[in-house]
Amino acid sequence: MNKQAVQTVAVLGAGSIGSVLGAILAQGGLSVSFIERNEAIVQAINTHGLAITGIRGDWSAPVKAAGHGEEIGPVDLVLVMVKSYDTAAAMDEHIALLGDNTLVVTLQNGMGNDDALLGVVGNHSVLAGTTTLGANRLDDTTVRFAGDGDTLLGAAGQTDPQAALMVAETFSRAGLPTKAHPAVQEVIWNKVVVNAAINPLTALLGVPNGELATQDETRRIMRQVVEEAQAVAEAEGVMLDAQTLYESVLTVCRKTAPNRSSMLMDVLNERRTEIDAINGAVTLRGEAQAIRTPTNELLWKLVRTRQATYELARQTRQA
Ligand code: NAP
Repeated sequence: MNKQAVQTVAVLGAGSIGSVLGAILAQGGLSVSFIERNEAIVQAINTHGLAITGIRGDWSAPVKAAGHGEEIGPVDLVLVMVKSYDTAAAMDEHIALLGDNTLVVTLQNGMGNDDALLGVVGNHSVLAGTTTLGANRLDDTTVRFAGDGDTLLGAAGQTDPQAALMVAETFSRAGLPTKAHPAVQEVIWNKVVVNAAINPLTALLGVPNGELATQDETRRIMRQVVEEAQAVAEAEGVMLDAQTLYESVLTVCRKTAPNRSSMLMDVLNERRTEIDAINGAVTLRGEAQAIRTPTNELLWKLVRTRQATYELARQTRQA
């Protein structure tokens, strides 16, 4: 484990949430670089800086950006914040960010980001967790910090749990309140289940989150998603309470009633969704445990079909 204090951070993916997390850490005194494949964003950040607007006010973060990890070299900590389907390829592409003691942290949504990273980074320490902060990009250099929340992380694989305590303390001191959690798979499962219940239904029905809690039919489907996922988690040794989780799904729907989920926004903007790492992961992990998950499977396949339809239309337009 890296026992030295973290001073240099590379945020892999200067997207919506990565930008806010990196900007907070930079504001808190850490040296933060963004690695981003979108050249316009890299140039804009290096020319104009990164502007954050929203719930903590407006500020400009002292950060730099690069198109490749080789331009930055080894850092103390890599915070991986690309979409789940890009995790392994992005870490592999920017492996130059890793020195002997570099810690790798993921706060992405979806199952399996930690395993994907462990598969690429070998013996390096990997920490995984969740954040309920919310963000969206306004333009190349401006990101809106839309919602504050909790950040939790813990050790993945054989990583020393002390590393989670050290990083939680470093992030908290820098202005990103973070807690180390001894059973982080439980935390990740909880967030995946909430996303599995809400996101695909909003994307398929084209409705904001609140709508799902008002209809008997959607409430029943969400309950089935939760109960199936709970059985899979239990078979993996992660104990979740289906009733509590279902109630928290309804609470999230009601508290974020006017919001359009990220999956609905992805479908509306004809972008790839994270469905494979959410309902897809529940289904495949269920198969591995001989547990059937018909509702998760159906939602997974329907969103994939929706996605394939616009991806095919785009390819036809480009041909
Ligand atoms: P996003 O805006 O799409 O940001 C991801 C960024 O990573 C994009 O700019 C992408 O570039 C870049 N990228 C992808 N592969 C790369 C590579 N190989 N090298 C360099 N850059 C690369 O996504 P997001 O909304 O920030 O979400 C990131 C993750 O956090 C997701 O798992 C999401 O579910 C989770 N999350 C998001 C929020 C939120 O409020 N947004 C909150 C909590 C958790 P391209 O645009 O060119 O693909």
